[in-house]
Amino acid sequence: MPKNPAYLILLGPPMSGKGTQASHLIEQLGIPQVSSGDLFRENIKNQTRLGLEAKDYIDRGDLVPDQVTIGMVEDRLNREDCAAGALLDGFPRTIFQAEALDGILAELGASLSGVISVDVPEDVLVERASGRRICRLCGQSYNLTSNPPQKDGICDLDGGELYQREDDKPGTVRQRLAVYQAQTSPLIEFYRSRGILKEINGDKPIGDVGKDIAAVIAGL
Ligand code: AMP
Repeated sequence: MPKNPAYLILLGPPMSGKGTQASHLIEQLGIPQVSSGDLFRENIKNQTRLGLEAKDYIDRGDLVPDQVTIGMVEDRLNREDCAAGALLDGFPRTIFQAEALDGILAELGASLSGVISVDVPEDVLVERASGRRICRLCGQSYNLTSNPPQKDGICDLDGGELYQREDDKPGTVRQRLAVYQAQTSPLIEFYRSRGILKEINGDKPIGDVGKDIAAVIAGL
């Protein structure tokens, strides 16, 4: 197990399964999942100023500007439940954000324990996006082919209605993947050169990927 506090990043393209894996791992790790995408969606749902500012970027498949994103994640990491660490999912997504994260962690007297990069071929990602459905109530994610709910359109956990995210529709998915290639994929080299990158094949059944990630984390 990584030393305490353990700040870990799950890095990977949209639809690589980072969010699903993170939500399974937090129980084992005893640290919260900090997902920038979830934080934005929560702000949009609650119609906060930050949510209104972020919405147009998200609907287009673009990144929300760094300053807005960094401020939001910094606030989250300063909450008490992150004192023992956090599993970051969807952040950082640019080199600028990665450098800002170093500063935020330094202020907390901490540093990154490891970065797990989940790799999935692009055609698989596009296919996954078209089948992804999310619960309106709890945010649980399903896939119509690989991880379907027991009842069509209904969340197994709380009976909430399942919906397709606006930004999972085909045109926006292609934009999100292009943005990932241009702005986020350089982080792989950034963290590899620091010797803290662990690479995982994400093109396997959810449970197998989860086991691989858990094994990597156990060895940190
Ligand atoms: P996700 O749920 O992680 O796929 O994020 C959904 C959308 O939220 C992304 O397509 C971006 O528009 C925005 N977003 C999430 N995380 C970040 C980030 N770290 N930097 C900028 N934009 C982000």
